[in-house]
Amino acid sequence: MLKIGYLDLDNPIAIVTPYQNPNPEEAAGLVLFDGIDLDRISIDDLESFLDELHLSAALGISVYSSEDRPILDAARLASKRLYLLELDFSRSFEKGRPLDLIPKIKKCGTTLSLRIHPEDLTNDLINATKREGLDLIHLDLQRQNGTGSKLVKKIVDLRGPKIMALETVDKFEDANILLAMGADIVSLHSPDPEFANWLAGAVKDYDRITGWYNAPKHICSGGDIRGLAFCCPPIKRCPVFNALKKVGMTPDDFVQRKVMLAKGTPLEHGEGTCFGNLVWCCKITKPCYLREVAMERIKLSGKEYMELKRKLAEELLKYES
Ligand code: SF4
Ligand code: SF4
Repeated sequence: MLKIGYLDLDNPIAIVTPYQNPNPEEAAGLVLFDGIDLDRISIDDLESFLDELHLSAALGISVYSSEDRPILDAARLASKRLYLLELDFSRSFEKGRPLDLIPKIKKCGTTLSLRIHPEDLTNDLINATKREGLDLIHLDLQRQNGTGSKLVKKIVDLRGPKIMALETVDKFEDANILLAMGADIVSLHSPDPEFANWLAGAVKDYDRITGWYNAPKHICSGGDIRGLAFCCPPIKRCPVFNALKKVGMTPDDFVQRKVMLAKGTPLEHGEGTCFGNLVWCCKITKPCYLREVAMERIKLSGKEYMELKRKLAEELLKYES
């Protein structure tokens, strides 16, 4: 369902669980073993623990150390076993060190996450981590008093690495708010196992039914830049202009690019809709008789429509000015 580097996740729910927990929740898409202090735990001991595991989920190890050498040893181990390696800078942030370590770790071929508090994550650091090939920012939002989704949107709008959002999640809606702002994965710290398994299944079902589990809102409703997939042609003043500025795209480029990306796909049809083709049409959750009729005519389901919009958003945001 979701690919991050060499990891294939069955669903976008991650469980952050203490190192040496032998029985983490099975249904999660990712199980991340947490708190591995490589100043105290040897790579051999870590490897012995990992040898005993028999889990179907993708696995990750979240490490920290005062020295680079054990971190690089762990990176090679993670790469060999196709595990996620996470550099945990949420315990203590050392300015400059993440950017020193990321290229060294990426040279080991490791899929890499950086765990960090939002207050340590400057725009420059987001841009630099993307340049250096970081696969995932694991954003610890647990102290943000409900403003976490806005911080997720900030990273998405900068087109930074993929995002794993660590938040207190008690119900489906809590996870959905983070996903709708662009989080690729929601992580839960030592959750109730029954709830974690239920949530993993619920998000997977939601994706199967809707076609886009973390679909954005319309930009004029506060959505992130992926919402450009639902925007109409920029004719009258509205928030689309500001979103295009963030991407560095002119309104003319936007129109040409959307038309070009729709070519040969069902989105180029849409007789009777506001702008004559579905590429300009709104999110499926906005009821619209005109779009429904146009989709019925070409036998396009709501799920297929949203899958096409998801692909469209990905292609639109590959734009380099
Ligand atoms: S172009 Fe349409 S959907 Fe996009 S922000 Fe403007 S009014 Fe909203
Ligand atoms: S036809 Fe309906 S879905 Fe399409 S742009 Fe107009 S209002 Fe939106």
